[in-house]
Amino acid sequence: METDRSTDFLIIGAGFSGLVIAERLSAAGWKCAVVDRRDHFGGNAYDRKDAAGVLIHPYGPHYFRSNSQRIVDYLSKFTEWHAVDYTIKSHTRGRYWSFPINLNTFEEFIGRPATTSEFSDWLEQNKVPISDPKNSEEVIISQVGRELYELFFEGYTLKQWKRHPRDLDASVCGRIPIRTNRDDRYLAENFQALPKHGYTALFETMLNASPGVELHLGVDFHEARTRWKHKHLIFTGAIDEFYDRRFGALPYRSLRFEHESFSAGQLREREPISGKPGFWQPAMQVNYPGTEEAFTRIVELKHATGQQIDATTIVREYPKDWTPDVEPFYPIPAPEARTAYQRYSDLAAAEPATSFIGRLATYRYYNMDQVTGMAIAEADKLISRYGTNP
Ligand SMILES: Cc1cc2nc3c(=O)[nH]c(=O)nc-3n(C[C@H](O)[C@H](O)[C@H](O)COP(=O)(O)OP(=O)(O)OC[C@H]3O[C@@H](n4cnc5c(N)ncnc54)[C@H](O)[C@@H]3O)c2cc1C
Repeated sequence: METDRSTDFLIIGAGFSGLVIAERLSAAGWKCAVVDRRDHFGGNAYDRKDAAGVLIHPYGPHYFRSNSQRIVDYLSKFTEWHAVDYTIKSHTRGRYWSFPINLNTFEEFIGRPATTSEFSDWLEQNKVPISDPKNSEEVIISQVGRELYELFFEGYTLKQWKRHPRDLDASVCGRIPIRTNRDDRYLAENFQALPKHGYTALFETMLNASPGVELHLGVDFHEARTRWKHKHLIFTGAIDEFYDRRFGALPYRSLRFEHESFSAGQLREREPISGKPGFWQPAMQVNYPGTEEAFTRIVELKHATGQQIDATTIVREYPKDWTPDVEPFYPIPAPEARTAYQRYSDLAAAEPATSFIGRLATYRYYNMDQVTGMAIAEADKLISRYGTNP
C-alpha cells in the first residue's frame, strides 16, 4: 500500500458534501484527495441509465428544490435545469387519491363536490385541539383529525420508520403541506428543478472545473487515512463508523429498491390507469399507506425527468432495518437517537483537524441544497483558517 502521498485536504465521501467542499477548496488553490468506497461519485444523488435506457436514481428519487437563490446560483455554474412540478398521489382503499391533502382529496373523501369554506369548516370540527404538537401524530391530527391521519399518514409512517408516528419528531410528518385549496404541489420551495442532464453530469462538470481535486473510487476511509498525509480531514461518512462504533451503532433506517421496466407495448395497456401515454402510473410518485403492500411508494421518475423515451421504469421502495452490511439511508428522527448521536458529536467537536459535514456525519436528514450550503460554509471557514494557496 502506498503511504507517501500527500494532499492538503483529504475528503472522505464523493457525494454532494464531499464534492462541493472539494470544489470550493480547489478554487482557493488547495489540493484535495476525494475518496469514496463506492465505484462511482455522486453519493446517494448519483443517477444513471438502466438497461431499458431510462434515467434512474438508484438510491431513491432525488427531487431537487430550494428556497436559497445563493445555492441555486452556485449549482447553476455546473448545470442547466429542467423545471419540474413534482406530482404525487396516494393509493389506498383500491383507488388513487389527490395528495398532499387538498380540496380535491376532500371531495374524493366525501364523494361529491365541495368548497374551500366547507372543507375548512370540516377541518375545524374534526381536528384535535393540540396547541403545541410534540410528535408526528399530534402534528397531523391537530390539522386534519384522526380519519384523514389514519387514511394517509399512520400506515405509511409505520412502514417507513417501523415506529409509531407518536414516537417520531413532529417534523417528519409536519413537513407535508395540508391545503384547503386545489394546490396539490408536493413541495413548497420556490425553486423546483432537476439538473438538466442529471446529477452525475452536474458532478462531472464540477470535477472538471476543479483542477486541484483528485478522485479515488473504491477506497475506504481506513485505507485512505494511511495513504495520504494531509493537513485537514473532511469526513462525510457515518460518524459512528468514524469512531468504530465505540458507543454502539447509531440507529438508521434502510431501503430496498425493486425496479421494473415496461416497453411501449406494455404501457399501452396501462393507459386507462396512467391516463398518459408512455407512463405506468398517473404521477411521479404514488404513496401506498395501506398494510396490503409492504412497499411505501412507487416512483416513476420519467414523469419528472421529462426524458423522451418509449419505455419506462418504476421503482417500488421497501423500507428495511439497517444492519452494518447495508446502506444507512436515514438517521432516525427521534429524541433517543439524537441523544446517542450527541456522544459522538462531543468527540467530533474536540477534533481540531477534522471537519464532519453532510447527512451521515451530522446524523441529520438534510436535503441536497442544505448539504450544499453546509459544505460551502465549512469551506469558507477552512479558507479563513488556512488562507488561500497562491
Ligand atoms: C432515499 C433518499 C431519498 C432522498 N431524496 C431527496 C430529495 O428528494 N431531495 C433532496 O434534496 N434530498 C434527498 N435526499 C437526501 C440526499 O440524499 C442528501 O441530502 C445528500 O445525498 C447528502 O449528501 P452527502 O454527501 O452528505 O451524503 P451521501 O450522498 O450519502 O454521500 C456520502 C458518500 O460517502 C461515502 N462514504 C461513506 N462512508 C465512507 C467510508 N468510510 N469510506 C469511503 N467512503 C465513504 C458513501 O459511499 C457516499 O458516496 C434523499 C436521501 C435518501 C436516502
